[in-house]
Amino acid sequence: MTHSRNWFPTLPPSRQRRLLASQRQGKMIVLDGQSYINFSSNDYLGLSAHPQLSAAAVASIQAHGFGSGASRLVSGDDAVFHAFEHQLAAWKGFESCLLMGSGMLANIGLLQAVVGRGGFVFADKLNHASLVDGARLSMAKVLRFAHLDTLALEKMLQTNQQNYPDAKRVIVSDGVFSMDGDAADVAQLLRLADTYDALLIIDDAHGTGTMGNTGKGLIDVAGVAGHTRLLEVGTLGKSFGSYGAYILGCAEMVEGLRQRMRTFIYSTALPVAAIAAAQAALAEIQQGQWVAKLQDNVAFFLKGAQGLTLMPSLSPIQPVLLGSDEAALDMAQHLRAAGIFAPAIRPPTVPEGTSRVRLTLSAAHTRHDIQQLLDALAHYR
Ligand SMILES: *Cc1c(COP(=O)(O)O)cnc(C)c1O
Repeated sequence: MTHSRNWFPTLPPSRQRRLLASQRQGKMIVLDGQSYINFSSNDYLGLSAHPQLSAAAVASIQAHGFGSGASRLVSGDDAVFHAFEHQLAAWKGFESCLLMGSGMLANIGLLQAVVGRGGFVFADKLNHASLVDGARLSMAKVLRFAHLDTLALEKMLQTNQQNYPDAKRVIVSDGVFSMDGDAADVAQLLRLADTYDALLIIDDAHGTGTMGNTGKGLIDVAGVAGHTRLLEVGTLGKSFGSYGAYILGCAEMVEGLRQRMRTFIYSTALPVAAIAAAQAALAEIQQGQWVAKLQDNVAFFLKGAQGLTLMPSLSPIQPVLLGSDEAALDMAQHLRAAGIFAPAIRPPTVPEGTSRVRLTLSAAHTRHDIQQLLDALAHYR
């Protein structure tokens, strides 16, 4: 290299990210030959290691091979994709479903497809990075409201509708928030969407499989599934224990997305095996025992954690807020010494001064595992 421009200014040590070449064995994670209980995965139902998922994926690979070879609109389509889209839409209570390569691809493409220059996106300040980037790419004007503050949002919508009565408006929010574990008031957001002629997009990547008696997520809990102003985004990489993502909505909206979403049109179809595994996961979720076990584990943790300063979360995401990067790294180190893996989460993933250890519970944990975590937390300094 002859020029000396510094493309990547050095990050302070407390901000550097490291890949650990870890391996998972069910609920355990192996690092440098040492095994730890994994309290950091989004595999909430423990399905990623379920033999039924592996069997379904293997059978699919034996029948079809692995790669799909092209975009679904060219020659990469498969009957399994259509079957799963119908199953997922029926389970979630929506008319239609579109499978996507990943949640990141879904969110990057979705806002561009529904709104553009001259339109407005109203976004919760703590939305997932994929929604932030999707909003930027849409070229619409992005107005961010304070986290969960539906009163502030309503004021913004009111003013906006007065000034731009004909503009497209889209409200977008995580369902269960990925780094805090708290939840959007979906029913109230939908009421605002109705009042101010807006579309509502809820990304319930973390609510699916975890919230509600049947694990259908926050939209089901709010009783608004299938509403024509509502699109739901979700991933198959978390509770489903597979890979890929989906968008749910009314038939007309989903057909519009199929025609216009660049991240659907210009990207290779998922391996069919990923969807075969997701189908097996859906069958497991529908039997109910994994969702019940997860919710029982969350209740057991919350009961035992009463003396600790946790964030206001009823979901399996239970962050311990520490503030500084150093404090979060220190607690993560303490837990590691106690046989528990839960890394520090620092800015820019979370706002400055809110570094934390993000704990996630899973149906794969035993009460004994959770007690070990509670004991380690109780003995921290
Ligand atoms: C994980 C996550 C995504 C990304 O989904 P992938 O399928 O992993 O790309 C999108 N939105 C939210 C809220 C997430 O937590």
